[in-house]
Amino acid sequence: MKKKGKKAKEKIIVFDTTLRDGEQAPGASLTSEQKLEIAYQLEKLGVDVIEAGFPIASPDDFKAVDLISRKIKKSSICGLARCLTKDIEAASESLKRAKHSRIHIFLATSKIHLKYKFKKAEDEILNLAKKATKFARNLCPDVEFSPEDATRSQKDFLYRVVETVIKEGARTINIPDTVGYSYPQEVHSLITDIRNNVPNINKATIAIHCHDDLGMAVANSLSAVLAGARQVHCTINGIGERAGNASLEEIVMALNTRKDAFKNLKMGIETKEIARTSRLVSSLTGFIIPPNKAIVGKNAFAHESGIHQDAILKKRSTYEIMNPKDVGIDKSQIVLGKHSGRHALAKRLEKVGFKFSKERIAIIFKQFKVLADKKKEIFDDDLIALAEEQTKPKVKIYDLISTKAITETGVEPYAEVKIKHKGRIRKAESTGDGPVDACYKAIDKITGVKTKLLNYKLDAITIGKDAQGRVKVEIIAKGKIVSGRGSSTDILESSVKAYLDALNRVG
Ligand SMILES: [Zn+2]
Repeated sequence: MKKKGKKAKEKIIVFDTTLRDGEQAPGASLTSEQKLEIAYQLEKLGVDVIEAGFPIASPDDFKAVDLISRKIKKSSICGLARCLTKDIEAASESLKRAKHSRIHIFLATSKIHLKYKFKKAEDEILNLAKKATKFARNLCPDVEFSPEDATRSQKDFLYRVVETVIKEGARTINIPDTVGYSYPQEVHSLITDIRNNVPNINKATIAIHCHDDLGMAVANSLSAVLAGARQVHCTINGIGERAGNASLEEIVMALNTRKDAFKNLKMGIETKEIARTSRLVSSLTGFIIPPNKAIVGKNAFAHESGIHQDAILKKRSTYEIMNPKDVGIDKSQIVLGKHSGRHALAKRLEKVGFKFSKERIAIIFKQFKVLADKKKEIFDDDLIALAEEQTKPKVKIYDLISTKAITETGVEPYAEVKIKHKGRIRKAESTGDGPVDACYKAIDKITGVKTKLLNYKLDAITIGKDAQGRVKVEIIAKGKIVSGRGSSTDILESSVKAYLDALNRVG
C-alpha cells in the first residue's frame, strides 16, 4: 500500500518594509550606510524581499536603493513607485545592479482618495494602473501592485483593477489597509472575496500590508494569511507611519508558535536573528523598544510573579509559550569587567548584534576601559550603549568636548558647553530652567540652529547606583523631526550627547 504523502508546506513570503514604510516614521531618518547595515542583517534574518526605499522621493532614497542593490545577493530588492513614468524609471534605474529586483507600484482605489486626492474617475484610474503596470513590467519581470486604501475601496472596482493589472503582468497583488481601519474578520472576507471574484487571481500571489492605528495590524495580517494571502508586509519592531506597521517578529513567532492554527505554512526566517535585528534597528533609528513589546521587549520573557517563577522552574511551558533562545535572546548575562580583553569584548559585541571592524573595536575597547573604571560590572546593555555610539553618523558636525553645569536651590541653573565644530572649538554659556535646559540653550547659541524639543527621556541602562543613564531626545530643526541618543554615567553628558546626535542627524 502506498503511504499517504504529506501535504507540502506552502511558503509565506516575508516582505520587509523597515527601510521604506518604517523609515517614513517621523524621526527615523537613516543614512544610506545605516540602511545598508540593516539590509545586511535583514538578509541574515532571511527575509525574502527587502523594500529598500522610494527612489523618486529623494536623491538619498535613490542612493540607498542603489547601494543595497549592489551588495545584497540573497533577498530580492524592491523599490516603490507611484503609477508615474518618472517614478517607475527611477525605481528601475536604482535597482539596475540588484541580483533579484522588484518594482512595487501603487495607486489609490478608494472613493475617498479618488474624490479628494486625485479628482479622477474610476475609468481613468483603471487606465493609469494598466499603463503603469505594463511600463513597469517592461523594465522588470517582477512587479507588485498595491491598490492603496484597498480595505476602504468599492469591491467591484477593486476586483476590476486587480484583474487588469494581473493581465498586464503584475505577479503580486498587495492589499493595503493603509489607514489601519480594518478588523480581522473583515480582512478575511476581503481576501476571500478577491480570491472568489477575480477570475485570474491564481496567476498572482496575494499580499497583505497592515497599519496599526487600531492595534490590529498583526491580527489583520494573520487573518489574511488564513484566508489565503501568501505574502506579508512587515517591519522590524513594527515601526512605520503613525502607529506603525505589522511587526515582523510578532507575525513570524505567531506562525511558529501556533503551528496548529497555521497548518502547512512555512517561512524562511532564521528566528535566532530576531533579537539582534530588533536591537540594530532600534539603535540606528533611535526608537527605543517599549519594555512590554511582544517578542523583543525587555520584559517579554521576564517573569515577576513568584508563582510563575516557581512553575517555570518546574516546567517552562507552564507560563512560557516560546523559548527566548529561539528569538536569539541569550539570558546568560556574561558580565565583563576591567580585566576583560579585546577579544572577549569583540565576541560579546557580536553576540548582542554588533559586528565591527578591528579599528572600531579598538575605539570601543578604549571607551570600554574608561567605563570599566567607573563601574565594576559591564552588562550587555552597557555594551549595546557603547556600540550605539559607534553606529551614529560617522561625520559628526558637532562633537562634544565638555560640559559644566552649576545648580543650587534658589539660584537659576547655569551651564557652559564646549563643542568642536568644523575643526574649531567653540564655547558658550547660558542659564535655563534646569541644567539640561541651560546646556541646550548654550548649544543653540553655538549652532545658531532653531530647534524645538519635542521629547526628552532619561532611563537607567542597567541596575545599580553606578548605572549609565541613557537619554533620548526628539527635536524639530530645519523642518525635520529627528531623534538622538546619548549615554554616559553622567546624565548631563548623556543629555548633551543626545542633543548633539539629533543635531548631527539634521545635517
Ligand atoms: Zn504603509
